Amino acid sequence: MKYEWMDSALCAQTEPDLWYPEGSGQHARTALRICAQCPVRPECDEYAQNVEDAADGRRHGAWAGMSARQRHRQTAATARRDQQILRFTEQGLSADEIGDRLGITSRTVVRVRTAHRQQQQEVA
Ligand code: SF4
Repeated sequence: MKYEWMDSALCAQTEPDLWYPEGSGQHARTALRICAQCPVRPECDEYAQNVEDAADGRRHGAWAGMSARQRHRQTAATARRDQQILRFTEQGLSADEIGDRLGITSRTVVRVRTAHRQQQQEVA
């Protein structure tokens, strides 16, 4: 099942308000410490990105070991990286060359290119 990973989510076994702190950052720090031990953090990260993308990028609460602000920064950094990948691609660099220049795997380069191509086909 698609959301099977949620059965192993540590936040589901503790006080949910910790992940949606109001005011002081103390609750968020506790939540982020728990996230650091969570076995499904990668799945949670992907899920959070999808949920927040669907919500026009609005971020609320802690997910996958990051505060809303940290996730916003991560998204902005990923967008900059993806733009750089596409610029290098237009310049004719291979996935391996781009990966070397940006310090990422060629698999990531291919994934970004594929996603971009699919987006363009959806728009056309
Ligand atoms: S990583 Fe995600 S699933 Fe795990 S405890 Fe943190 S918010 Fe919950």
